[in-house]
Amino acid sequence: MILEIKDLRFGYSKRSPLVLDGVNLELDKGEIGVLLGKNGSGKTTLFKNILGLVKPASGNILFKGKDLLKIKGNERAKHISYVPQNAEFGSLSVFDTVLMGRMPYFGLRSGSSDEEKTAEMLKEMGMEHLASRNVEELSGGERQKTAIARALVQEPEFMIFDEPTGNLDIANEQLILKEAGRVAKEKGIGILTSLHDINQALAVGDRFFFLKNGRILYSGDSSIVSKEIIEDVFDAKVNLIEHEGKKVVLNY
Ligand code: ADP
Repeated sequence: MILEIKDLRFGYSKRSPLVLDGVNLELDKGEIGVLLGKNGSGKTTLFKNILGLVKPASGNILFKGKDLLKIKGNERAKHISYVPQNAEFGSLSVFDTVLMGRMPYFGLRSGSSDEEKTAEMLKEMGMEHLASRNVEELSGGERQKTAIARALVQEPEFMIFDEPTGNLDIANEQLILKEAGRVAKEKGIGILTSLHDINQALAVGDRFFFLKNGRILYSGDSSIVSKEIIEDVFDAKVNLIEHEGKKVVLNY
């Protein structure tokens, strides 16, 4: 397993109720795991725990069998990259911003191989024309793609995406999900992502984790995804149909 979470508990303060109240989760390398749950159910909080940005009250997070919290910052950055919902950037060109993803490898100054990898990534993402633009001048979707390119060029073993398609139009949504799937399969990278669109989740996910009341109430491959589970987790009415052998959720 690339990631194992065992009985994780976390609250933002001693007095407030636990946001995570016994989370268990397992993800293998090369797999895309999708975390699903209502707004405020604790998805981002779980990511912050995995990234070591906050400290669990109890439980274990293991990365390839090792306690993740004992792996030092720079070492962790080589293994895990993170794309938050609204990534922040300095006032740099798109090229230099993506190149920053290589920083855990180069220290002070980038080498030609770092620059080549950056150029390749911009090409794969259809972003060559943006290379010299300042990130501050980009649209929301372009910034999102820049953040994803920066994370991918890091060549991590494990990636976390927080709602990666939030700002994107349909074509870019498809591009990002395809790219994430390709990277996961070709490079054997484990990816854990939250997605609010269950149909997007069904299109890319290998494993599904439904978070409710601080726990993963349901997990498994797409065979577990049902109308009953979705309605329970999201407190909403939906319909689920089959189209060309695949499940499709209708939110009406
Ligand atoms: P999600 O990502 O699923 O929308 P979050 O992990 O952001 O949910 O939030 C889970 C819960 O934790 C919410 O009730 C939210 O209000 C609370 N929360 C999030 N961040 C903080 C914080 N920095 N301090 C206190 N409470 C927080």
